Amino acid sequence: MTDRVVDLRSDTITRPVVAMRLAMASAEVGDDVYGEDPTVRALEERVADLLGQDSGLFTPSGSMANQLGIRLHVGPGQELIADELAHVLRAEMGAAAVFSGISSRSWAAPRGLLDPADPLRMMQPDAGTYQVSTKAIVVENTHNFGGGTVQSVEAIRALRQATRSLGVAMHLDGARLWNAHVATGIELSAYGRQFDTVAVCLSKGLGAPVGSVLAGSHELMAQARVWRKRYGGGMRQAGILAAAGLWALDHHIERLADDHSRARTFSDAVASQFPGAIDPAHVETNIVMVEVGQAGWAAADFVAAAGAQGLRMYAVNQAAVRLVWHLDVDDADTGYAFDVVNTLLAQAAKRP
Ligand SMILES: *Cc1c(COP(=O)(O)O)cnc(C)c1O
Repeated sequence: MTDRVVDLRSDTITRPVVAMRLAMASAEVGDDVYGEDPTVRALEERVADLLGQDSGLFTPSGSMANQLGIRLHVGPGQELIADELAHVLRAEMGAAAVFSGISSRSWAAPRGLLDPADPLRMMQPDAGTYQVSTKAIVVENTHNFGGGTVQSVEAIRALRQATRSLGVAMHLDGARLWNAHVATGIELSAYGRQFDTVAVCLSKGLGAPVGSVLAGSHELMAQARVWRKRYGGGMRQAGILAAAGLWALDHHIERLADDHSRARTFSDAVASQFPGAIDPAHVETNIVMVEVGQAGWAAADFVAAAGAQGLRMYAVNQAAVRLVWHLDVDDADTGYAFDVVNTLLAQAAKRP
């Protein structure tokens, strides 16, 4: 019936807008491995500033920024701890173990929400010669597989205070910290300052084609620069990419509120007919989880049925799908999305 495609698989799928491409084309560049790219330096300084940190490091991906941060804090045979839905544990292909010899443990966290009591109960900062010592805690904000949930800044502060003197570092996976900032009005630096290292993505809701930034102290970033080169992440005239990031910081932060409000419109429209599938109170930013299992669907079948109508989404587990709002999805697309989802949920209810 339709050729329409509405792609809500992820906010990574956005394509750079024309003005961003123009900014990229005219970027001043140099060899960044020699530290000579002024645009990369400007981006690193600006992001570090926004996050309340001393120094920044531009990386090709968020996974690399996270993995560099983690390895600064945790040695081989030591451990990091994170909630069981954390991107660093679920979606970075075991990188901490493969590249850094790091052991990991996790705690259960409904919707990925941080309760400082969980890591405090688990961690063993100095476990001696017989057990693994905990050297870092990773906090994700907003929480991707938790459904775009925003972490409480009070919970983060409480954890920081309790761990600071114990030699347990804190790393923030802030791939979507921008969304947390826009949803709450809390400054990026109020989150960022609580951590030893912070990773943020430019290539998600901000709409840049490539790139993330790791931020931390001058000393830590000097070490991270060496490791980035060792990992093959040293880039040359990367100012072309950094220019996209700078342009995104100027133009695409505040508009994340539009993504949040469309995600809410969608959730209200689905919840009004299928209250068991979505709790709108759980939709805090641009990510929506729909419990299609409640209506008798397997998530993979639901994704295929929606895909046949041009509505793309992602199965997060056997019973739930994830839809992510972004720059390339407007009000009409949002209306199409809830029509398709409601129709499919209603079909399942009618099946024998
Ligand atoms: C996307 C994402 C990352 C980094 O992903 P890359 O694809 O490696 O850029 C890290 N953490 C979270 C929570 C993410 O959603």
